[in-house]
Amino acid sequence: MEYAPGMFDEQTDIIIGGIQFSDLFDLNELQKIQDLFSDATGVASIITRPDGTPITRPSNFCRLCNNIIRQTEKGLHNCFKSDAVIGRQSTSGPVIMPCLSGGLWDAGASITVGGQHVANWLIGQVRNQELDKEKILHYADEIGIERAVFMNALEEVPMMSLERFTKIAHMLYAFAAELSSKAYQTKKLEQFIGFRQQAEKSISRLESRFRALIENSTEGVVLVSAGGKFEYVSPTALRLFGYASDDILHSDPDAMTHPEDLPMVLQTLNYLLQNPLKVPTIHYRFRHRDGRWIWIESTFGNMLHIPEINAIVINFRDISERKRSEKIQEIQYNIASAVVTSGNLEELLTIVRRELNQVIDTTNFFIALYDKQKDMLSKAIWVDEKDAYTRWKAENSLSGQVVRKARTILLNRQQIREFAVTENLNLIGTTAESWLGVPLWQSGQVAGVMVVQSYTDPQAYDKSSAALMELIAHELSIFIEKKKTEDELVRAKEKAEDSDRLKSTFLANMSHEIRTPMNAIIGFSGMIADSDHSQDERIKFANIVQSRSDDLMHIINDLLEISRIESGNATVVKGTVVLNDLIDDLESEFRRRILLNKAETIRLIADKPLDSAQTRILTDSYILKQVYSNLVENAIKYTDSGHIIFGYRPPENGTITCFVKDTGIGISPENQAVIFEHFRQADISDPHRYGGTGLGLAICKGSLELLGGTIWVESKPGAGSTFYFAFPFEPAPAQEHKPAPKGIQLKKTPGYSWKGKRLLIVEDESANMEFLMIILRNTGAETVGVTSGAELRKHYNSLHLFDLVLLDVRLPDANGWELASEIKAVRLDIPVIAQTAFAMSGDRRKSEEASCDNYISKPIAKHALLKMLDGYLDDGVNKSTIPA
Ligand code: ADP
Repeated sequence: MEYAPGMFDEQTDIIIGGIQFSDLFDLNELQKIQDLFSDATGVASIITRPDGTPITRPSNFCRLCNNIIRQTEKGLHNCFKSDAVIGRQSTSGPVIMPCLSGGLWDAGASITVGGQHVANWLIGQVRNQELDKEKILHYADEIGIERAVFMNALEEVPMMSLERFTKIAHMLYAFAAELSSKAYQTKKLEQFIGFRQQAEKSISRLESRFRALIENSTEGVVLVSAGGKFEYVSPTALRLFGYASDDILHSDPDAMTHPEDLPMVLQTLNYLLQNPLKVPTIHYRFRHRDGRWIWIESTFGNMLHIPEINAIVINFRDISERKRSEKIQEIQYNIASAVVTSGNLEELLTIVRRELNQVIDTTNFFIALYDKQKDMLSKAIWVDEKDAYTRWKAENSLSGQVVRKARTILLNRQQIREFAVTENLNLIGTTAESWLGVPLWQSGQVAGVMVVQSYTDPQAYDKSSAALMELIAHELSIFIEKKKTEDELVRAKEKAEDSDRLKSTFLANMSHEIRTPMNAIIGFSGMIADSDHSQDERIKFANIVQSRSDDLMHIINDLLEISRIESGNATVVKGTVVLNDLIDDLESEFRRRILLNKAETIRLIADKPLDSAQTRILTDSYILKQVYSNLVENAIKYTDSGHIIFGYRPPENGTITCFVKDTGIGISPENQAVIFEHFRQADISDPHRYGGTGLGLAICKGSLELLGGTIWVESKPGAGSTFYFAFPFEPAPAQEHKPAPKGIQLKKTPGYSWKGKRLLIVEDESANMEFLMIILRNTGAETVGVTSGAELRKHYNSLHLFDLVLLDVRLPDANGWELASEIKAVRLDIPVIAQTAFAMSGDRRKSEEASCDNYISKPIAKHALLKMLDGYLDDGVNKSTIPA
């Protein structure tokens, strides 16, 4: 009968040292062995737990035991009790004794596993001759079995000598002992194998864990043998060095270490070999597969003494970023101190380029400063493999776009092309593979650009390069700002010194310029009265006095004019001017007066490309004459031979450009920059060579600025100069055209006859009064002189008796301009000519405001006065032939 699973489950659940009984013995096998044993020996057999409860099914049990005794409650109980006693633990041998129940011979061998009694193997149910029949019958009675039935069954119980039974029992004992020992050993082995497997499992789990730790660590791990070869390179290390596989293992670590750092690394390894317990950490550069150097921080551990490792273990991490920011800080510091210490921009920029080159490629590097007015960039430093520019238009360059957009621009070749299209740029220069430009600032404005470019590497620059360049640009901006302030201070100081020097030169010059004519005036005027000289000589002297006085007047006028301009008192009086007429007048004036000595060697040419009608403009004729005169006078002064052309060009864009061109000595470029400043003479070291005060051009410039115009020069030393001046071209309205007062028209008639005319002369200075009276004496006009405002006012009632008033506007008791207005209020049609002492354009304005008809400046030139008065007095009759 097969062992049914579950049959013994509960009973067999004995645990021995963690091993269950059912783990030790296969119960089916056991049952089979037990059955075979019973068959072979002819004894009954069963295996029970120590308390006697069965584990196996009984084998070969006799009917007496099985069907009779065990069927009674008491019999069964006694059987168990007896089995427990027989099966008690015995280490010396089997227990052999008559059964407590029926008196049959029984024997038991305890099964002991690992020192623990786990079961009993019981055999028995045999009888021999010594069986006490009385006792047996008595037992049958005791358990309530009929004696005959009992005896009948007893008869069936096999007979066996005690000797044989004892032998069988010993065999059982040995067998059980062997069985348990084998079972236990097997189990132990199994357990050991289990433990081992478990241990192996946990070791491999541990190993995977450590492997995962190493492989996933952000730190790289490298094992290097005592011979300096790679033994192991962790995946992180491979990744950090740019290797995909173990091919790095064949490389030489020394060859991959930066040559500058290698000695230090080798020294550290040496130290480690001598001090195996030390764990040094060092920084050095290691080559990435792509050739660049990466900074690593490595900690070295000497594990050569551990046989399983037998290597130097190097743990490292990439500190390139940290090194880079340290480097950047250092660069910033170096540049910042260079900003403080370097003397000039060029020196600083060279330092900047060198410093920057430590972290970014500055093979092609330039810094350009921006001129906002001209929209031009000009190099401050330029280093380039392909191009060379000094100045370029901002609008067609990438650098110009940095200025325009006031931000950093970082582009590769493709992006440069696209940028040029979207921004509509016609780019200059060679297109770079990578281009980076940052703005330089000054007082919140873009003052320039700093650019790096690579013609070979499209990845030369990135956002971090841009950030670095911006940092440096900031430092540079500080320098530019500082330099500007310094330069301004230096300039201001130089200017102060310069103007001091200029003033002294000017005074010395002026002294010379004034004394020279004064010398002639005083000398010759003294001789005019000297009767030792002939009449002709005296006329000559008088002419000299006159001419020198004109020179003196010229100087004084210039001085007054410049002070008026500089004090801001100069005004503009616009009127209709026919430029062609003005040029004609000036031409004849120059020929008559200025060109005198050089008429033979210099040709004076007036260039008037337009019809007169087209040259009617609204402007200040005084200023125009003044500028032309100054320029032509200079041209004549500085030209020995050749020609002088003066005129204008047809207006363009609302501006007319006039010019005076000579073939004279020319002006050096340095001097061109300063001659428009007052007191400046080009060759101030030798101011007397040509004479002059150095005021003329400053006056021209100041006056033209009042008109909204400009003046400039183009000149080459030795080849002549062309002075240009331009001012707004404002066509005069046709109806505004008034014929110029006759007084300023040139009159060819040499004499004047104003017979019947009455002139009222107002002049407080007796000498001047006399001068006027003498001039007018020969004109036939009647003159009435008054010396004050009060006296004049007395004549208001009789104004109708006069033909003209010549009014001095500076009287001790009255304001001449007011008097003029009073006269006009009394009699509007009487011409009033003002005599002024200021010779300034402001007097013209005042005279107009006061409704004067004209004005004449003191000192009064006889011809000029007569010409002017004639314009108001001449009625076309009675022309006199009196010489003027
Ligand atoms: P100056 O009274 O000395 O002529 P200006 O202001 O008129 O003063 O001129 C300044 C300087 O410019 C002159 O001293 C002279 O050196 C230079 N200059 C002016 N015009 C000319 C010219 N046409 N050719 C050469 N040099 C000139």
